[in-house]
Amino acid sequence: MKDHGVDATSQTANIRPDLIRKKRDGGQLSDDEIKAFIQAVKEKTIQDSQTGAMLMAICLNGMVSAEIKALTREMMSSGEVMEWPDEWKDFMVDKHSTGGVGDKVSLVLAPALAACGCKVPMISGRGLAHTGGTLDKLESIPGFKVEQSREQVKRILDSVGCCIVGQTETLVPADRVLYALRDITSTVDSLPLVTGSIISKKGAESLSALVLDVKFGRAAICKDFESATELAQMLVEAGNGLGIRTAAVLSGMNSTIGRCVGNSVEVIESLETLKGNGPDDLMELVTTQGGLLLVMTGLVSDLSEGRKQISEAVVGGAALSKFQAMMEAQGVNSDTAQLLCSTNADYYSVLRKAKHQLELKAPADGIVLEIDGLALAQVLHRLGAGRSKAGEPVNHSVGAVLLVSIGQRVTKGDPWLRLHYEDLALTPDQRNHLESALTVGADKKIQTQQKHTLVEKILPEKYQ
Ligand code: URA
Repeated sequence: MKDHGVDATSQTANIRPDLIRKKRDGGQLSDDEIKAFIQAVKEKTIQDSQTGAMLMAICLNGMVSAEIKALTREMMSSGEVMEWPDEWKDFMVDKHSTGGVGDKVSLVLAPALAACGCKVPMISGRGLAHTGGTLDKLESIPGFKVEQSREQVKRILDSVGCCIVGQTETLVPADRVLYALRDITSTVDSLPLVTGSIISKKGAESLSALVLDVKFGRAAICKDFESATELAQMLVEAGNGLGIRTAAVLSGMNSTIGRCVGNSVEVIESLETLKGNGPDDLMELVTTQGGLLLVMTGLVSDLSEGRKQISEAVVGGAALSKFQAMMEAQGVNSDTAQLLCSTNADYYSVLRKAKHQLELKAPADGIVLEIDGLALAQVLHRLGAGRSKAGEPVNHSVGAVLLVSIGQRVTKGDPWLRLHYEDLALTPDQRNHLESALTVGADKKIQTQQKHTLVEKILPEKYQ
């Protein structure tokens, strides 16, 4: 038997190898030991090789829920924890998505929640690999500033009710260090580390309620429902452990959300949704996540009422007014914001349109059985819509618009996708990859299926 009794609070350098050994050998770290590890990461008194070794030990051996809870809390406390006026405290809400293709839920949900009386200090991320980032989408609007100080965030929440901003330097500094080391030590996909990273940042927002959209499928990080459920349970438990009412929505991510993928085209689809013309799948995600947050803040008594209120805020135009006010508060010229929010807006008089458009044609008669969101996103990424390394620029105008939906009948030669691209044109391989994203055939099940829904499960089940 190994002796796992470690004096974790000692600051002497020869203690930490014992901590690493304890985790390496499958031991359970105490709260104090986790605190010592995160403090050392924050204060840079631990070598990167040691942090990398600890991350690998966590990745290989996992963590029990008490360890995840301590890790999350200590990460959160490594930096500034936001404070809000008392009268806001019960209504501070946010969401997190594990990443999808065409995922523009935040752009519609934040203003819809603000219209329903919530305060939404939404801290979002940038796209990496094939998944898009909310901040990149918003930056395709001329003038939109995602970097806002703590004081500005408070002012915008006071006057508008929602903002969508980037992470500040002072929020969860330990995550910045750990994330960079996870990236180079193949420990990014460890569920306890993912949980600590996501929930600590939400905890630092001092939320009252949080909803997580945990995606599963071909175009998601979790390829199957089981692993997504495991992650969702861990996230919900960690969120509740910080005193945030937390729920998770498990939703399918094989195709795309809505019909547009790419920064500018997704802003256009979000604006159209806020004008009441949104696609059903996007509205399903918005109303489910928003409805859950309204239930958890006590603004409504059940999910169906929550869904109804969110839907009315979107379809009735209240959310659009909030989005317009948010754009202006975050630096967009008021004429530009007004134009984007007007009926029949000429979006491309404001947003940059790609130099070239290309339509792909259906290869045969039949029913659209599948649209492979991952293949689509991979090609767009290579054409400049996404980035491979943090810090790289993205091309906002590169994107694609689906001209068909799953279950729709098409005739050979019908256009099914409009690609927006710049000087970097499609290679023959990319064209093949893109063409292979569409599957046309004959399937009675899909033909007779009434409605295609994405939400598979809600956790905790009491909200289902
Ligand atoms: N998003 C984060 O912020 N952290 C992770 O580890 C994964 C997704």
